[in-house]
Amino acid sequence: MPSENLYEIRDDRFRDLIILNAFLEELYSDCLWAEGPVWCEDWRHLIWSDIPNNRMLRWSPETGVSVFRAPSNFANGNTRDRNGRLISCEHGARRVVRAEPDGGLTVLADSFEGGKLNSPNDVVVHEDGAVWFTDPTYGILSDYEGYKAEPEQARRRVYRIDGATGNITAVVDDFVQPNGLAFSPDFKKLYVADSGRSHDSAAPHHIRVFDVGDGGRLSGGAVFAEIDTGVPDGFRLDTEGRVWTSAGDGVHCFDPDGTLLGKIRIPQTVANLTFGGPRRAQLFIVATRSLYAIHVNARGCARP
Ligand code: MG
Repeated sequence: MPSENLYEIRDDRFRDLIILNAFLEELYSDCLWAEGPVWCEDWRHLIWSDIPNNRMLRWSPETGVSVFRAPSNFANGNTRDRNGRLISCEHGARRVVRAEPDGGLTVLADSFEGGKLNSPNDVVVHEDGAVWFTDPTYGILSDYEGYKAEPEQARRRVYRIDGATGNITAVVDDFVQPNGLAFSPDFKKLYVADSGRSHDSAAPHHIRVFDVGDGGRLSGGAVFAEIDTGVPDGFRLDTEGRVWTSAGDGVHCFDPDGTLLGKIRIPQTVANLTFGGPRRAQLFIVATRSLYAIHVNARGCARP
């Protein structure tokens, strides 16, 4: 895509964050619905999910694309903990799992107050070791991205798994469909997307921001930004606290003050993104069928 059509500059500050002669690389194009990218610097590869195809894929600059895990239990969001272990949200098994060095999977969460989780969607790890994840119903609405089922939870919540005890607490319960989530670089703020408008035109299409207190207690929760095209799904923050989010027409970049700085237009609906590459200055974007990459003049948080 020619660069003059690639960027939409809404605020002059965005000019400093893009590289005008960088181009959008399409690294893979055979997914059905791509999600959950995570960059593994120690392995120099990217792992992501292809949910309807029930598999996880791996891309490396040296060897290209290969299957990482199949079946994947219709895995969606992925991240790594402080020890580098891969944590995945499985729609199919309605649980959050951690891959151990021996290849086994440890279940971190599969129920709350006696009922199965809906379909864990996205996951991040706090610097204190707690694992935070969202639990909308997307994975049980049909058999396309999991297995159709009735919800056993009255609400679609955000949960926190304590890093020391493994106890699960509900930290947010007033979302229509909580989706992507990420911490600020200092871990004092938590951003959570509500993508409710995906199935209800009157529902939210915004990202809210919470203050994170002792023990993971949240306060605040004001709307940080509304997405003007499509819905926010996954997103990441850069080292300066800017929010780079998925949207219907590409990647939107917001200043920490909530101003839309600009967009990177992507030819397909974007589900998620992450910073990667040796300096975390390469955006890996998963968008419907494809994995894209583009270099930017910003660096992702060391621990997204
Ligand atoms: Mg998601």
